[in-house]
Amino acid sequence: MAVKTVDSIVIGTGPAGEGAAMKLAKAGQRVAVVEAHTQVGGGCTHWGTIPSKALRHNIQMLADYRRNPLFQHTLEQVVIEFPDLLRAADSVITEQVRTRYRFYQRNRVEVLFGRARLVGPHEVEVLRPDGVAERLGASHIVIATGSRPYRPPDVDFDHPRVRDSDTLLRLTHTPRSITIYGAGVIGCEYASIMASLGTKVNLVDTRDRLLSYLDDEITDALSYHLRQQGVVIRHDEAYAAVAADDDGVVLSCKSGKRFKTDVLLWANGRTGNTQGLGLEAVGLAPNGRGQLDVNQSYQTTLPHVYAVGDVAGPPALASAGYDQGRFVGAHIAEGQCDWSLVKTFPTGIYTVPEISSVGRTERELTAALVPYEVANAQFKHIARAQITGHTVGMLKLLFHRETLEILGIHCFGQQASEIVHIGQAIMAQPGSANTLLYFAQTTFNYPTMAEAYRVAALNGLNRLF
Ligand SMILES: Cc1cc2nc3c(=O)[nH]c(=O)nc-3n(C[C@H](O)[C@H](O)[C@H](O)COP(=O)(O)OP(=O)(O)OC[C@H]3O[C@@H](n4cnc5c(N)ncnc54)[C@H](O)[C@@H]3O)c2cc1C
Repeated sequence: MAVKTVDSIVIGTGPAGEGAAMKLAKAGQRVAVVEAHTQVGGGCTHWGTIPSKALRHNIQMLADYRRNPLFQHTLEQVVIEFPDLLRAADSVITEQVRTRYRFYQRNRVEVLFGRARLVGPHEVEVLRPDGVAERLGASHIVIATGSRPYRPPDVDFDHPRVRDSDTLLRLTHTPRSITIYGAGVIGCEYASIMASLGTKVNLVDTRDRLLSYLDDEITDALSYHLRQQGVVIRHDEAYAAVAADDDGVVLSCKSGKRFKTDVLLWANGRTGNTQGLGLEAVGLAPNGRGQLDVNQSYQTTLPHVYAVGDVAGPPALASAGYDQGRFVGAHIAEGQCDWSLVKTFPTGIYTVPEISSVGRTERELTAALVPYEVANAQFKHIARAQITGHTVGMLKLLFHRETLEILGIHCFGQQASEIVHIGQAIMAQPGSANTLLYFAQTTFNYPTMAEAYRVAALNGLNRLF
């Protein structure tokens, strides 16, 4: 079979693959990307980040409308179901695909649709949808094949009441009740999405607190507000069995507790997309989670074969994956890269209320014996929040008592994932330029949510003695 040669092959067009392909193309390399789905964009665009965030936005608009006293007399005329809200998300996906495909075209990156398989250390076979196979050769290969929901073999995912985060997007009705097993980011996000829609939600957590890597005060607030929305949260549970029939689906736990609802969303773990990738042909093997282990430069045990994004393991975020791709692109094309690109990344969790943070938590700082102080602003005291009616939330800055260096930023409430970036920009400054004083001495537009930084800074400085 004839082999077409390029400089680098990227497998997968999610954020990680796109980041790598764009960086390589900009560096002057001849790049081919291979995509098994019918369109570019990855799981991120088609069944992960984009549909879930567009769905959340639509549901939130609906919830705001239902809450607004101005529109109470119109409520009965408006009947909106889950599939209507999903359809509204479709237009965003279409626009994202168009935009991303244009990026590949403009940068002269060849996009091949088909399933890629390694057939040699420098060779990839692409099986096109029409059954024709073609071969590509390159000096470097970037694997960016993403991940999929983990499905335990004893749970019947063929039953229409049993869903994972991919198949939930094919629900054709609004469930009256849902049990979500697994309270990681996806589980918590869907718990608040479904609760906002008026669905009764059980959130069954396998751990003793929600999202334990976040600051305790923030996760306490999340638990409180989820409960306020009617979500029943159960911690430290482990499933024993799932049984679905025409009447409902029952999740039985080892503790003896049972949850019966219309639908079960299984949101407990993900596995890397390495099956059928021909890893064995080149002497690579996935770990127990189907992921490829990599070194700090995202190289597998074969130095010319890289793995980025979800397939390379945590943090499994679109945001981090894109930068890992860019990092690897620079590593291949220029032999040098910006380590800071992949070291510190923020978390954005689109629950209601939204959560975002960057830097260290109180628990981490206490364990490291760092003398920190806390600077707080409650959204209910911020004029912009009062105007928009989104007064639930807070901004919390952790700073060094002596140097005033900002060490951590933790926020929950409307627009938290945007608000955190203001502080992140200051926190990223070198040396004494990273200071809480910036927020006390800078004029912010008024009314804005950015004002929370000034309020927090003054609050924090007042605590010092
Ligand atoms: C419900 C949900 C919500 C999320 N929300 C957020 C969020 O708000 N923010 C955030 O940062 N992250 C979020 N994520 C995570 C984010 O979607 C992933 O981290 C991101 O998509 C990973 O990017 P990737 O490029 O590694 O893989 P993907 O986006 O999964 O793309 C991988 C691509 O590789 C292709 N592929 C696989 N195998 C082959 C093969 N053999 N040959 C050719 N192509 C192949 C697949 O078809 C796919 O298109 C969410 C995930 C889910 C499931």
